[in-house]
Amino acid sequence: MKRCKECGIPDIIGRDQVWSSDGTIPIPGDPTFRMGIIEVPVIRAIAAKLEAIVGPAIHTMFMEGKRKNARHYIDTLLKGPLGFLVRHSNSGGKKAYQTLLQTSTALGYGHVILEVYERKTRVGGTIHNPYYTPLFVGDVRGVFESIERLPSKGSWEDKGESAKILVERMDGEDKLAKRFVFEEKARLPGNMKYSPCKTCGLPKELMRFKWNIEKGTITDTKANERVFIAGLNDINAVFMELEEAIGDPVPSAIIEVNHDYGLELVRKGVVTGYGDLVRGAGLKGLGFTSFSGNRERVKLTFNNPFNKHYILGRSLGVFEGLEGTKGEATVKEQPGALEITITGRGG
Ligand SMILES: [Zn+2]
Repeated sequence: MKRCKECGIPDIIGRDQVWSSDGTIPIPGDPTFRMGIIEVPVIRAIAAKLEAIVGPAIHTMFMEGKRKNARHYIDTLLKGPLGFLVRHSNSGGKKAYQTLLQTSTALGYGHVILEVYERKTRVGGTIHNPYYTPLFVGDVRGVFESIERLPSKGSWEDKGESAKILVERMDGEDKLAKRFVFEEKARLPGNMKYSPCKTCGLPKELMRFKWNIEKGTITDTKANERVFIAGLNDINAVFMELEEAIGDPVPSAIIEVNHDYGLELVRKGVVTGYGDLVRGAGLKGLGFTSFSGNRERVKLTFNNPFNKHYILGRSLGVFEGLEGTKGEATVKEQPGALEITITGRGG
């Protein structure tokens, strides 16, 4: 996989994603489709909390949400002649899977070995270091559905550091066609400024992430943890479906995990002030943020926030870490914007 000689980031990252000044990371083929950088421990912790409430069905829901949006992502990548070639030649199919699975390596999903492929029937293999196996099966189903133009089903067997996965054609219609759809209400401007790499144009700030192409991992060296790049609509669609199905435990889990994570960012010294929270959120595609106020009362304004609960929890954790006291928040929401005011409890 080719990398930029100057900043070391795989070329494919800059080809398929754009770091925008409004705190989002759209894909060139569809600006409404947002990508984001998500911490692996955070998504796993949320899934574990929800599993305790919903049971193992939670993993299937994550798979479904990802499947749908991965299909859209691949459809966008395969627009035009490339897609025609892939879908109409006998050898094109397998090669396309290999190419697209390489993309998933660059996105930090793990290292994949394709072992089974029968056109319009099944595709399967082993993933080493999966970021979160159900999401990965969703990705492969998305690729299958985009290339084969058929509904799919997926299964997996976790084996610790690796997993066996299989995606097969599903007979009948896609019963979830109308579910797991998340649409952004509005996109507001921002003025995130990055220092572009002179060679590839990507923000130099991304150099804090180290790509290990052999392993299929991305490490945030500042926080010393694994991250991955995914469609934020996918994750939001899953959270939304879950909230509709089981209510309050869902926002609670998202807020709690992010609160603990925000606190941890301060403890690790990754966030030393609200400015770090603002820059970090933008770089990860979670939205464009500004802040004002003083130590007793901090107002954070987010344009294009990724999930309200996610942002709220993280802000509360950072506040607590910086101010040394638990915070209480009031939240105002408008299309495309979120305003969070935090005051110290009892203050
Ligand atoms: Zn570069």
